[in-house]
Amino acid sequence: MKKNLVCVLCPRGCRIIVDSESLEVIGNACSRGAQFGPQEIISPQRMLTSTASIKGALHKKIPVRTTSAIPFDQTFQCIQEIQKLQLTAPIEVGQVLIPNILGTGVDIIASRSLCINLP
Ligand code: SF4
Repeated sequence: MKKNLVCVLCPRGCRIIVDSESLEVIGNACSRGAQFGPQEIISPQRMLTSTASIKGALHKKIPVRTTSAIPFDQTFQCIQEIQKLQLTAPIEVGQVLIPNILGTGVDIIASRSLCINLP
């Protein structure tokens, strides 16, 4: 069976067709699309960005992200884990906030630094 997909790895958004049996890909403008297509059929994965609560900083939320793509079907559970975080400033960009989230081998890290907000 042929599956029509859009490659999401870059803004070009190539419309690709993947044969779900042979995993042959057509319509991709580069080799990354040839890897994305079969991966999307076998086990879709996505990078995750979100925000977490933080105390003692200028802002009440800090942007966070995964260090690499996670299984798409675990996205909602990961967001729930991120929502449980109760961080306190200071936080450094790249600081690991949740190591190996849900046993995926992927860490949740801070996407920016937030220092202590002095009164
Ligand atoms: S196939 Fe290559 S050029 Fe096309 S959207 Fe994917 S990454 Fe971008």
